[in-house]
Amino acid sequence: MTILILEWSNPLNKSCAIHFSCVSQLFIFCSVMLHLSQDVEALRGELCRKDEECREQERRLAALEQQVQERTGVIVQLQQQLEEAAQRRQELQLLRDGEETLSRQAALPLQVKYVTKTVEVESAQSKQALIEAQAHNQALQEQLSVQRQLLRELEQQLHESQRSSSQLRQQILVYEGEMERAQGQLEAEMQSLEEEKNRVIEEAFIRAESEMKAVHENLAGVRMNLLTLQPALRTLTCDYNCLKRQVQDFPYMLEKAITEAKQEICQVIGEVSSANQELLRKYKREMNLRKKCHNELVRLKGNIRVLCRVRPVCAGETDAADTKNKVTFDPDDDAVLYLSNKGKLMTFELDKVFPTQATQEEVFQEVQSLVTSCIDGFNVCIFAYGQTGSGKTYTMEGVPEDPGINQRALRLLFSAVSEKKPDWDYKITVSMVEIYNETLRNLLGDNPNEKLDIKMCPDGSGQLYVPGLTEFTVESVEDINKVFDLGHMNRATACTNLNEHSSRSHALLIVTVAGFNSSTGHRTSGKLNLVDLAGSERITKSGAEGSRLREAQCINKSLSALGDVINALRSKHSHVPFRNSRLTYLLQDSLSGDSKTLMMVQVSPLESNVSESVCSLKFAQRVRSVEIGPSSSSRRQAESSSTSSSPTHDGVELDSPPVTPVPLPISRASSASSALSSTSKTPTTRRRSHSQLSTDRQVDRSSPLVGDGGQDERS
Ligand code: ADP
Ligand code: MG
Repeated sequence: MTILILEWSNPLNKSCAIHFSCVSQLFIFCSVMLHLSQDVEALRGELCRKDEECREQERRLAALEQQVQERTGVIVQLQQQLEEAAQRRQELQLLRDGEETLSRQAALPLQVKYVTKTVEVESAQSKQALIEAQAHNQALQEQLSVQRQLLRELEQQLHESQRSSSQLRQQILVYEGEMERAQGQLEAEMQSLEEEKNRVIEEAFIRAESEMKAVHENLAGVRMNLLTLQPALRTLTCDYNCLKRQVQDFPYMLEKAITEAKQEICQVIGEVSSANQELLRKYKREMNLRKKCHNELVRLKGNIRVLCRVRPVCAGETDAADTKNKVTFDPDDDAVLYLSNKGKLMTFELDKVFPTQATQEEVFQEVQSLVTSCIDGFNVCIFAYGQTGSGKTYTMEGVPEDPGINQRALRLLFSAVSEKKPDWDYKITVSMVEIYNETLRNLLGDNPNEKLDIKMCPDGSGQLYVPGLTEFTVESVEDINKVFDLGHMNRATACTNLNEHSSRSHALLIVTVAGFNSSTGHRTSGKLNLVDLAGSERITKSGAEGSRLREAQCINKSLSALGDVINALRSKHSHVPFRNSRLTYLLQDSLSGDSKTLMMVQVSPLESNVSESVCSLKFAQRVRSVEIGPSSSSRRQAESSSTSSSPTHDGVELDSPPVTPVPLPISRASSASSALSSTSKTPTTRRRSHSQLSTDRQVDRSSPLVGDGGQDERS
């Protein structure tokens, strides 16, 4: 092994390098030893295995020997049997000899016959002898047959024993062959095992020898390095002493450095905090400016804005005969809408018109600045107005896969307040209320049939509150959905037919956004009222009686009151008739002061709904065109509308057309000369060039309207 030692400038480093090389050599030596011991271990294992195999073979040999002994015993038995058989054979031979003798005797009958005759004639003694001889002959014959029988049996036995002895001999031969084969195999195996054992031992020995040699060489190298290391160790000790001295001085140096750093940090902190103060001041100024700008933007758009949304013709409606689309739009002006009524084309101008294909998102984009102004502490009202089936609920609530303003507003509030963290901490609470027949129902309470009251705060602030109204704090979309579900459930349980009922009542979602700035201690509170109004359609006198008549009266009353209030607010009347309906009374805080209101007028495009569409659009236009700036006449009119009933609304105008909640249509010509506030200036001036094309259109639109076929209608 070679160790490369670079030229070190520092003796300490040099000695370190030498030390390092020795250590690495030692390390290599150890690893070689380890490797060797592993090899020896492996060899030992192999040897043990081989021994085991030998023992196994020996065991098998012993078993085979035992078998051989057993078989030898069998052979001995068989030999004994063979001897017995041979003995029997001799006996048989003897018997055969006897038989032959007998047969030879039998071959002499003629002599006997001859003698017999002679004896027969000659004497009784001979006869007796003959009889005896015959009896003897008979006995001999019987004996002969018995002997023959015996002979046959013995012959059979002999055959059998010969056969079995030949079989046994064959078996013996087979066993002997097997034994010889097994013995040969065993010997061959023993031989190969012996050879293998010798070879393995030889190999291990050779390897161990070479490895030992290498280890010896390494050891010699290590020894050499150790010798060179000693001077390095000496320099190391010297360096260590030097370092020790330096370390002793270190606390003093450290303390000095810390003091200097502390001074610098304090200085920097001072600078940063003054910069921070400056930034905070600027931030506050910017925030105020942003709030003002936002407010100004909303104000420029008008504190009371009137938009219109035309719903598309639904799938089920396309077949009917009266379902021609009666509404058209101006491709150059998104604030104008044309309605074809009895062959005449009526023109309506609002702040913005959403055509049938407008998406929920596009509609929401138009209202989102109002929603966010809530965070700055403004009160906001968004109303959906229109006849039943014109799409009010679709615009406010939407459908689960495409939610409307209600859910989108809450989502926007969540994201807007989270952006303002951590300086601002906001709490968003929601309530749901229904106004049916001028009674207030708490839709999130335990008992939806319980009626609520509106009361003045006892603290003398002039604020209103609803005792017992349930409020839920919401922090996520899941919370909103839970609240909406509860509201819907409670609304449904309180009536028999929800669809019909919902078109006869106002549904309010009241969102309160309360903020607290922990760094400035500043607090804000804004309220967002999202109102799905009852259907604005007129009911004929003949078709309404009893409860239906009362419902119609209540709806008419509240919608008229809403129109009156908006009118009075836009006209800046000193008296605003909030108390004329539960709806306006409940929303008093959110309609007055610097609150913002948006009226979304929903229109159906169907021919069968044209007259209701005309009424809704006239209402919208009248709300929008109300003149700003209190004039004595308008104030008088407003006052009269609040004290006495408005001639067109407060009494149920059942048969008379149309629902005209705002009784103050003042001509635009006069509005141009009066002091226009910026709330209405923008939309008017924006379209002046367009409207100047037809002066009569302007005059028509702003002239007082009394009925369905008012002066708005154009051919
Ligand atoms: P309202 O609440 O005014 O009685 P709805 O919101 O219930 O009316 O709408 C009546 C039907 O028209 C519903 O089936 C609704 O899904 C459908 N609809 C309303 N507006 C739209 C729209 N913009 N796009 C698609 N379908 C609409
Ligand atoms: Mg509805």
